[in-house]
Parts: sequence; structure tokens; C-alpha cells
Amino acid sequence: MEPFAYTKAADTRAALAAGQRGGRYIAGGTTLVDLMRETVERPTEVVDIAGLPLRDITLTPGGGLRLGALALMADAAADPRVRTTFPVISEALELSASAQLRNMATLGGNIMQRTRCTYFRDVTANCNKRSPGSGCAALQGINRSHAILGTSDQCVATHPSDVAVAFTALDATVRLLGPDGERTVAFGDFLLPPGTTPDREHALRPGELITAIDIPPHPRPLRSGYLKVRDRQSYEFALTSAAVALHIQGGVVRAAKIAAGGVGTVPWRLPAVEQRLIGKRPSGELWAQVAAVAADGARPLEHNAFKVELLKRTVERQLRIVGGTE
Ligand code: SF4
Repeated sequence: MEPFAYTKAADTRAALAAGQRGGRYIAGGTTLVDLMRETVERPTEVVDIAGLPLRDITLTPGGGLRLGALALMADAAADPRVRTTFPVISEALELSASAQLRNMATLGGNIMQRTRCTYFRDVTANCNKRSPGSGCAALQGINRSHAILGTSDQCVATHPSDVAVAFTALDATVRLLGPDGERTVAFGDFLLPPGTTPDREHALRPGELITAIDIPPHPRPLRSGYLKVRDRQSYEFALTSAAVALHIQGGVVRAAKIAAGGVGTVPWRLPAVEQRLIGKRPSGELWAQVAAVAADGARPLEHNAFKVELLKRTVERQLRIVGGTE
């Protein structure tokens, strides 16, 4: 680890001032400290924002949720309002990381976590995300865990967050605070696919702070849930995952919100699957039929072609779990 200055932000204004001069925000530190130890990240100043009043979880008018950016993963997962209104969020959080990490890590930090691509974390490997223009060791290397959707010839790393998949499915909005005031960004526009600039991972402007994630109201009743497929049942990242929310009324699917994780360079929304569900009666046949298009557009690499079929089966299974088969 390289030397750095440590600043504890007394309030939001002090945090923003430090962010403006190039300080890196830290709260739980469960990603940034690891990366600093490995010298992947080398901030000259770290700004501790853990004491800022951004932990509240509140219900919003109409049945939405506001999740403070500094709410701990464990607290958000256990919150009865989250569990009742959007179980897909609770389930995604509970299937993330380990109990110890969930008690340290914040929601803002979770969505800002960086890829688990092993070449990104190995400073001796070529990596366009860590060192633009150096190449991508994963393209010809071991790429079993890498993305099949949203990739470019510059980078094929997956986004590792589970709860970001739920936020994507639920049309969440990210609330930001910067020197010019507040603004909001749709979650689907917040995390950026690699394209030709894989080092640019999000829509934050320099010094901006995430203050909250808003989940809009959805038509009720809403059934939702998260399924994660991984090599082991604990403390492991997704090979594939599916966040599914369905509004079924009168025996017909009226609204469907579906996103996949573990397969995309960003959490991957599945509009083709959603559209095929609207107006249809739930059945095992329907789930299988619509899940068949879940991996359309996939570009598998040498070691991860299995994800194409696995994604379809993950989506089908989660539709079956959430939607039933009546
Ligand atoms: Fe780096 Fe992306 Fe290639 Fe991994 S996949 S080595 S993060 S450029």
C-alpha cells in the first residue's frame, strides 16, 4: 500500500470539498482497501464519509423506497419495509458476499465496487480498465467468469454487484450531490459498459457523492425475487443471476421487470423477455418460451460459452419461482 492522507468528513459540505480536490470517498472500505493493498488503486487522499447522515431507509409516497447510500447491506436486507415491498432487494443483498462484509459494506459502495476480473487485480497483467491502452489479458486468458453481454474488444469484465441487478430491474434512480447541487441518474444509465473506455465505469462527475437510491412505486400486487447461480453457496460471485418482479392480476402478467447478473459488463436488463410476458397467462410453458431469448446477442469467449444456456435456465427457473405455474 502506498502512503495516503486520511480525512474524516465532518459533514456533507466538507466531504464535497475533499472530493473536489481529488479525495476518494470511503465508507465500509471493503473494496477500496483491498485494491489499495494490491496497489490497483493509489489515492493520495481518502475521505471517510461513514459518519454522514445518509443511512436512512424510508417509504416514499405511492409505495416506493428511498435507500440511503450509507445504509449497510445487512441493515437494508433485514429492513421489514424492504422485505415487504421489494423482496428481490433483500434476497440479492443476502446472497452477496459474507455476513461480515454485509455488516461493513454500504449500498453506495456496493454499486461502486470494481470488477473481480483477476487480471484487473494483478498489477503485472495487461488490463485496459486499470491501465488504459495496455491490452486485455482476459481475452486470451482464463475467461470462464467473464461477460457474454455488453462486451467490447477492450474489456469483457462483469460487474460484480448483486443488488445492482435488482436496482436495474426495478427502474431505480441514483441520487447524486455535487458542487452544483443535486441531480438524479436512472440506474440503467449509471453504470457504463466498457466500449472504448473501460476505465470509465460510472456516470459520477468528479467529486460527486451518491446520497441515495430511489426505487419507484410499482403496480401491486408485485411478486419479486432474486436467484443467484454460483460455484459455491456462500461468499462467491454470480456465474449467472436473475432479478424478477412480476405484476400478475386477473391471471395475466400485467408488468414484468427482469435483469440478469454475472453475464454482462453491467447489470443486464432483459426487455425482450419482459415484452413477451405481457398479457400472457403464467405457465411453465410460457416461462420456458420467453427465457429462450434471454441470451440473445451474447458473445461468448473461449471458456464461458456455458453461460448462454445457464442464463436461459436461470431466468426460466426464477420466473417459475416468482410467477408460479398456475
Ligand atoms: Fe482488464 Fe477488463 Fe480485460 Fe479484465 S476484462 S483484464 S478488467 S480490460
